[in-house]
Amino acid sequence: MGERISEALHKKLTKRLSFYQDIGIGFFYRDRIPQQSTLASAETTISPAPSLPGVALPKPFQKQQPIKPAGTAPPALPRRDALPVPASASLFEAMNKVADDSLLKIRADLGDCTRCKLHRGRTTLVFGDGNPKAELVFVGEGPGRDEDEQGLPFVGRAGKLLTQMIEAMGLQRKDVYICNVVKCRPPENRTPEKEEVDTCSPFLLRQIDAIAPKVIVCLGSVAAQTLLETNRGISHFRGEWLEFRGRKLMATYHPAYLLRNPGAKGEVWKDLQKVMAVLGLQGRKGSQTGKSS
Ligand code: URA
Repeated sequence: MGERISEALHKKLTKRLSFYQDIGIGFFYRDRIPQQSTLASAETTISPAPSLPGVALPKPFQKQQPIKPAGTAPPALPRRDALPVPASASLFEAMNKVADDSLLKIRADLGDCTRCKLHRGRTTLVFGDGNPKAELVFVGEGPGRDEDEQGLPFVGRAGKLLTQMIEAMGLQRKDVYICNVVKCRPPENRTPEKEEVDTCSPFLLRQIDAIAPKVIVCLGSVAAQTLLETNRGISHFRGEWLEFRGRKLMATYHPAYLLRNPGAKGEVWKDLQKVMAVLGLQGRKGSQTGKSS
């Protein structure tokens, strides 16, 4: 018979294991000869997981990072000798698993999600839509009424404006990928709560890693604050090139904000022109260099 563990530890382990399952890791390996540094603590504590590429650590293990300007990106994959644990076969198996992640697998892992209370009010889970190999990913906040009904992101009024902006860039919706921080509609379109964001965002991170876009555009503060792990208001960093896990990130105003404040459309268009320049879209047939209407 194995040793019994306390209920609290059981709960903690279950939570941790479900988190790993959510991010696509299902295989663990225990070293037969524990490393000296882990011997003392192994019995009593759960040590933080090694940092794997494409893996967001649960909040208690995340350091609040200052917002990084683009161009200072660390390499996407840690060097083998930089890993904080012995490079066991299983670790690399886990890394490959994450590296091989696909949108289909992520959608399957989400399943008929009941991980947070938002599932109670949803009609349809809105996963994301567009080109799975897109160079450009737009990240919004969460589905609204139309999105919840149709199961597609940005199809309501704000979505129509986003579509116009995408077309003004010389692209079509099918060229880009569009998704949200939370996949289920918050009641009355309220801002998603921290716990809801924390529960759902590992799937967003996996989506971004699986698509591997050149540029991520965060639409509004919830998307920007989630990916940049900051509480700073979007107006402090909107329109600047920032970095997210080695990719270029631009935060701009949410189209719903533009519907209420049409005067801010020019600012957003300036931001999108910067994105177009990086993607080599300037001067492309269909792209307008003037202000979007
Ligand atoms: N607003 C969002 O943030 N996302 C959508 O999908 C629709 C509206």
